[in-house]
Amino acid sequence: MIDTSGDVNIAPNRKDNEFSTALHQRGNEFFRAENWSEAMTWYNRSLSYAEIGSENVALAYSSRSACFFNMELYEKALIDIETAKSANVPEHLLVQLEQRQQECHELMQTAQKPKVTRDFKLSYEANKNFPCMVDVVEIKYNQEFGRHLVAKCDIPVDKIVLMEKEFIAAIDNDRMLCCNCSRMNSNFIACPQCPAVVFCDLDCMNQNLWHKWECGSSVSQLNFNMKLHVRAVLMAIESFRSVEDLMEFVGSALLEDPGTIPTSMHDLKSKYHFFFNLKRSPQKVDDIIAAYTHFKCIQMCPKINALFDGEEKTRFLMHLVFHHTLIIQTNSIGGDDFKSIHNVFSMVNHSCAPNLHNYIVGNHGIFKTIRYVKMGEQLCFNYLGSFNEKTHERQKELESNWKFICKCAVCEPTNNIVNARLASDPRFQFVHDNVHDESLALDLLDKCRQFLNEHGQLAWSAEVGFISQVFAGLITALED
Ligand SMILES: [Zn+2]
Ligand SMILES: [Zn+2]
Ligand SMILES: [Zn+2]
Repeated sequence: MIDTSGDVNIAPNRKDNEFSTALHQRGNEFFRAENWSEAMTWYNRSLSYAEIGSENVALAYSSRSACFFNMELYEKALIDIETAKSANVPEHLLVQLEQRQQECHELMQTAQKPKVTRDFKLSYEANKNFPCMVDVVEIKYNQEFGRHLVAKCDIPVDKIVLMEKEFIAAIDNDRMLCCNCSRMNSNFIACPQCPAVVFCDLDCMNQNLWHKWECGSSVSQLNFNMKLHVRAVLMAIESFRSVEDLMEFVGSALLEDPGTIPTSMHDLKSKYHFFFNLKRSPQKVDDIIAAYTHFKCIQMCPKINALFDGEEKTRFLMHLVFHHTLIIQTNSIGGDDFKSIHNVFSMVNHSCAPNLHNYIVGNHGIFKTIRYVKMGEQLCFNYLGSFNEKTHERQKELESNWKFICKCAVCEPTNNIVNARLASDPRFQFVHDNVHDESLALDLLDKCRQFLNEHGQLAWSAEVGFISQVFAGLITALED
């Protein structure tokens, strides 16, 4: 029995039909249990190990089309049916596929309209220098807050003010997302050379900057955190014509004042420049050890090694990796198997009484207003994700992870925390009484929006805090 547990020490680092078949059988087990999305993950793995031109490729597409079919995603099912038919599909499956194709067309005629997918876009004109940010927001610098975002006019609740693609990202291999744009549930195609990654389509495959360096090397088997550091170096390499140009850039960028506001983000070089000057946490002994580990991982990529030959360049690379390590530690976001860095996103400071809520859609980090923002006010979000009432616990977590002491309105309250007038607002009462009723989600969203546009600019109170949290939760639930 072949071990398909996903253990990187057991999985082969090349296409392998025997392994691909074992993965397909695991998929079949989930399929029989009607767990379509889990089955699909295993079929994607099977596809990525299938030898090019073999029957395994067609089988993976065919089984995946059955998953999409059962998930009522008929358009996606049809795409996979076509791909399977044009691959090396065995005769008996062809009949099945054609039948499924027929059913898809019939069901698409009778099925209810597909769910409306929200069209995500900025709520105002884009900023000229930073097109991911609205032009009613600017980056400012002062001694107290460092670089931070400020509103240039009043901004009501429920406005998208930032929508930024990641600068670098990495996921663990066993989570099947497009290596280029982090989409899931797509009609993935596998890298033709290695079993490590999948892409949405040929466009995603050709646009991707880092996989061409990693393909075939053991880098693809590293965990997401290590991979992220390899990719930071790859972005540095991709941004300059030669290692000498990169060395010259680093020499001058290190002399820049930490308060310098980036000028633009139009090309790769300016994006890397932005990233290079992000805030770094003060270094500790642990960071040196971590950076050394990252450096060793980067050396697993023969194509990078070939560029940084000789003692001077090797030493430069070590210093660069150390610099990246401090930046990534301070600015990365993510979870247990995923990490990414977004540049402008990283300029947003923390508040326990935030006026922004952040969420991720595909490879975009999005910030939406959850309180009424007055002109000149700083834009902030909650680094801790959710609100913890115990001030000392919040402060401890912020200090240990981000090395600062929070002095926001909740941490140092100067006003009464409970505002009885707001508690008697009928919209507050409606939200308070129905917060767990999913069938009222749209009503709740509307009541929250009205309440926050009217009262959200008042000094923080438990009522404003409660409604803005409910609002943030609804945004994530409805738009994710
Ligand atoms: Zn993609
Ligand atoms: Zn590859
Ligand atoms: Zn605070």
